[in-house]
Amino acid sequence: MATAVKNVLIIGGGFSGMSAAIELRKRGVAVDVVEIDPGWRSYGAGISLGGATFRAFRQLGILDEFLKRGHAADGVDLALANGIPIGSLPTPRLAGPDVPGGGAIMRPVLAEILAAATKNSGADVRLGCTFTAIEQDESSVQVSFTDGQVRQYDLVIGADGLNSAVRSHVFPGAPSPAYTGQGVWRAVLPRPAWASNAKMWIGQHLKVGINPVSKEEMYLFLTEDRPSNEWIDPNSFLSALRDLLTEFPAPEVAELREALTPASQIVYRPLEGLLVDRPWYSGRVVLIGDTVHATTPHLASGACIGIEDALVLADELAAHETLPTALVAFQERRWERCRMVVQNSGRLGDIEISGGDKEEHARIMRESLIALAAPI
Ligand SMILES: Cc1cc2nc3c(=O)[nH]c(=O)nc-3n(C[C@H](O)[C@H](O)[C@H](O)COP(=O)(O)OP(=O)(O)OC[C@H]3O[C@@H](n4cnc5c(N)ncnc54)[C@H](O)[C@@H]3O)c2cc1C
Repeated sequence: MATAVKNVLIIGGGFSGMSAAIELRKRGVAVDVVEIDPGWRSYGAGISLGGATFRAFRQLGILDEFLKRGHAADGVDLALANGIPIGSLPTPRLAGPDVPGGGAIMRPVLAEILAAATKNSGADVRLGCTFTAIEQDESSVQVSFTDGQVRQYDLVIGADGLNSAVRSHVFPGAPSPAYTGQGVWRAVLPRPAWASNAKMWIGQHLKVGINPVSKEEMYLFLTEDRPSNEWIDPNSFLSALRDLLTEFPAPEVAELREALTPASQIVYRPLEGLLVDRPWYSGRVVLIGDTVHATTPHLASGACIGIEDALVLADELAAHETLPTALVAFQERRWERCRMVVQNSGRLGDIEISGGDKEEHARIMRESLIALAAPI
């Protein structure tokens, strides 16, 4: 096997960075990971995932653990705000005939599964640590760290997310994340018997959804348009979410509204999007995941495309003798798919904000899900 690199530093231990570590270790590459959070925590409620993500989980070797601790089911049921059904989105079984095409899991549980696989891979993980300087020449890249160490690498992978310090360092002129005009409320609730798969209720501007995250629990999300990105007092979260849910007379939504309590782990997050134009690398530093393509959650595919970046990058690094050819091949394989997810998700948000054409919304959802089913 040709391999363009022997040792790699990954900056950022999120879903994308951990996946890169696991895949590179499988190919015999020495991997260091630095993660700025000393507790390596992951915040938030549930995360919805589709067949393409499960296909990636299978390759990573974490699918069985996901199926044990998360939840998988076929189809997304759609209804109007009053509960009248309007159809369902198909979720093709991309990870194999035995694995449903959709599902969800609590974010911290997925992070725990990936962290265990990263440690087992033999990657050297340093928590509470980041870079202070990155200097490269033709033959290597030298990185200084906050713990005082200085190490040499063949390649640095920036996987430090939406507000990436690696991106600012390598591409100081890159665009910054932009508020999209929507925010998402999420909460975790006990799972009623009827909540067996993902469901969404579509209002004029607001959208509510649920997805089971385990045998016992589900998460609820509500997408709201807000002209400005102001801070919301967490003490008001429960009453604010309850008020928004009153716009949905559907009996199931009313039942969930009643079930909300101060213990429902309610969070609010303004949505930001970012698509960095190519190139996604400079010399011996390459960017993956949210650092270059942070999508709003309308297609529930942000984690998916970041994890896929990791699989494809490891593939191309192993398939090429030289780093520049590997990085060009990586970027060319990833650009169109990631562009499609970010821009189509953005368009779905715009349609929701303007109360626009529901048929266009449904068409974009359908076309995007078909495109995501294509092999990577
Ligand atoms: C409200 C919301 C809902 C979403 N819902 C879904 C969904 O349902 N399905 C889905 O697939 N996607 C969803 N997404 C998108 C998904 O969360 C992201 O695409 C995904 O987490 C990106 O992973 P990442 O590893 O690239 O970045 P991140 O998850 O941001 O990870 C970056 C890591 O780098 C670390 N770090 C940061 N700075 C430094 C530094 N300087 N040095 C070292 N380490 C650093 C961070 O601590 C973190 O661990 C959602 C996003 C939002 C905002």
